[in-house]
Amino acid sequence: MSKWNMIIDVAECTNCQLCTLATMDEYVGNDFPGYAAAMPKHGHRWIDILQKERGQAPMIDIAYVPTMCNHCDDAPCIKAAKHGAITKRDDGIVIIDPVKAKGQKQLIDACPYGHIWWNEELQLPQHWPFDAHLIDQGWKETRGQQSCPTGAMRAIKVDDAEMARMVREEGLEVLGEDLGTKPRVYYRNLWRYTKCFIGGTVSAEANGVVDCVEGACVRLIKSGAVIAETTSDNYGDFKFDRLDEHSGAYTVEIEAKGRPGKSVETRLGVSVNLGEIRL
Ligand code: SF4
Ligand code: SF4
Repeated sequence: MSKWNMIIDVAECTNCQLCTLATMDEYVGNDFPGYAAAMPKHGHRWIDILQKERGQAPMIDIAYVPTMCNHCDDAPCIKAAKHGAITKRDDGIVIIDPVKAKGQKQLIDACPYGHIWWNEELQLPQHWPFDAHLIDQGWKETRGQQSCPTGAMRAIKVDDAEMARMVREEGLEVLGEDLGTKPRVYYRNLWRYTKCFIGGTVSAEANGVVDCVEGACVRLIKSGAVIAETTSDNYGDFKFDRLDEHSGAYTVEIEAKGRPGKSVETRLGVSVNLGEIRL
């Protein structure tokens, strides 16, 4: 049986927040009996954009990660709910019943992603219900997806075997995989948020003029072994990306034709720009 999933490309998200606003437009002040009570005007972000800046000037990039209820297949919120207040539909969508869930504030802490929000006025836990009221009317996309100008967000309905194939072949990831909740929201290019880099700029002096060095061979060494190799670009820049944060000591070795080589030691916490490395 085919089920709903969301695929989000971190590389395509510009943090325009239109998906967040479209979701608010859909739910603020609007009741959808059986699906969701009205979202309050303030305080809830059913689609919340995380952001992370990596590196130091001038080598900086920023990643934006739209987050929402993951419609987990092994959802701790369902186990924590009394009176069957949270259920998973056959199409994969998780629904918090707006009547049965009333007063169940404990559900806020049951979601490890922080995506159950407390509606003080209604005394109700709420989440983003995958726009199930629209899906059930035949919609093939969500309001957030419809409003996204870059195509960063895409809801797809496929069977689990096909989704597993896409995860494998397209390198999709989920947030908090170690939590074991089996999310149905997948990310492309999540490494831009979860991983870090070592970068720098190679320069050299000739006849009293300092210039960047293009085409220098740069090797990344860890525990005595070369783990990556690249060449500096026409600005002298190099970057080794997708490294694990807090992954210990590295050596960067640089060689350029006709110049003495140089090596730089660093200990990786978060992304680091080694700055100008003069040969
Ligand atoms: S993300 Fe949180 S609220 Fe959504 S299904 Fe998973 S545990 Fe439940
Ligand atoms: S609408 Fe698209 S680009 Fe804008 S914040 Fe949402 S996912 Fe990102």
